[in-house]
Amino acid sequence: MFRLMPFVRRGLFEPLHGWISHSPKLRYWRELEKTQFYPEEKLRKIQWRRLSELLRYVAENNDFYCRRFQSAGISPQDIQSPEDLRRLPLLTKAEIRANGQAMISRGFAVERLQKAKTGGSTGKALELYFTEECSELRNACALRHNLWSGWNRGEPIAAIWGNPVLPNTLKETLRQFISGPPVIYLDTMAVSSASVARFVDEWRQVKPTLIFGHAHSLYLLARKLEEMRISDLCPKGIISSSMMLLPHERAKIEEIFGIKVIDRYGCEEVSLIASECEKHEGMHLNIEHLFVEFLRDDDTPVADGEPGRIVVTDLMNRAMPLIRYQVEDVGVPTNRHCSCGRGLPLMENVTGRVADFLVKKDGSRVAGVSLIENTLTRFPGLDQLQIIQTQLQRFVIRIVPGKGYEGQTVKELEKYFKGVFGEETEVEIEKISDIPKESSGKYRFSICALK
Ligand SMILES: [Zn+2]
Repeated sequence: MFRLMPFVRRGLFEPLHGWISHSPKLRYWRELEKTQFYPEEKLRKIQWRRLSELLRYVAENNDFYCRRFQSAGISPQDIQSPEDLRRLPLLTKAEIRANGQAMISRGFAVERLQKAKTGGSTGKALELYFTEECSELRNACALRHNLWSGWNRGEPIAAIWGNPVLPNTLKETLRQFISGPPVIYLDTMAVSSASVARFVDEWRQVKPTLIFGHAHSLYLLARKLEEMRISDLCPKGIISSSMMLLPHERAKIEEIFGIKVIDRYGCEEVSLIASECEKHEGMHLNIEHLFVEFLRDDDTPVADGEPGRIVVTDLMNRAMPLIRYQVEDVGVPTNRHCSCGRGLPLMENVTGRVADFLVKKDGSRVAGVSLIENTLTRFPGLDQLQIIQTQLQRFVIRIVPGKGYEGQTVKELEKYFKGVFGEETEVEIEKISDIPKESSGKYRFSICALK
């Protein structure tokens, strides 16, 4: 049944659903298919026009931003360049938590808005609001980027997710059936041989052509499939998102599924920020929807090739605008161009969350993720690792021992961390069977508990 369904879904169900629900998704998606190939300069003009319109809008309709403009002593007309924009203060997660619904623009009824709640690395949730239209425009954008993987509209999808939201009622099931492709799920909060066997059975019936999930979950699935000697799952595309994709994880996923992984970066607050295309030469920034800045610690912009804190302005959400929002990740902009011909500029990969950087005695910082990558690939017998910096020179290293683990591994690890953080550093190795995940199913590579 599913072999015929993608054509029917693409040609009939999806447009019909869009028409009944007045969704702009398909119309806008067609536009995005064209704009991605505009020259960068033209895309930057569209981006700047949207930004200027947003600034004018918030100055007239949003009390929270009116006050911000006033205290910065500027008006939207004063903002003519990225440099001018930097006169507006950065927006932190703490400010969003403190102001909440007071950040919603006049004329929007909260009860009519969609709400997204993010888990947040510190366990403190953020609540974001947007209109259904904004959500559909984001979906259109996600659709464009999903197509970069080789998947086609209407074809079944496999999602590897923590706590997947499944349709509960008959109405929700029907809605999903009509509006989107069939989706099968593997809950990453509980990956076991039994759950993977069930998932594989379902896969063989539904035949998804796209597999979608957190980087580490895709890696765990690939390892499980290898262990269970299952080699007949052949998607056209794999999209890894929401977590950094470590090189050894990418290599294993690509080996098991026999195709390349598309790495994608985004967050719940603003949706898709950047994504690799089929050429895998960097991540294309979604500049039709976002104005993205990369900043140094002193809030000046970094040079191309230099890591900087990622700051985004969401050009699509007028209900609860996010202007100069600090995502708390670090990424590297680049002026390289991709051979695919798209005008969307590139960034290199994300180098980690701000909170996941560890501090050396001299005050310099190290991305926890690069230490993880170095140790996991260097020392045999380590399945997973998490670094917790409890004091400046005190670390707890949680390890999940794997095949080939031996007592020597612990000594080697201690030596390695002393080498990076100084001989007098205390390193406590804690052997555990599993590293606890956040409620989203992701796990943190490193945690810096220093104030
Ligand atoms: Zn490209």
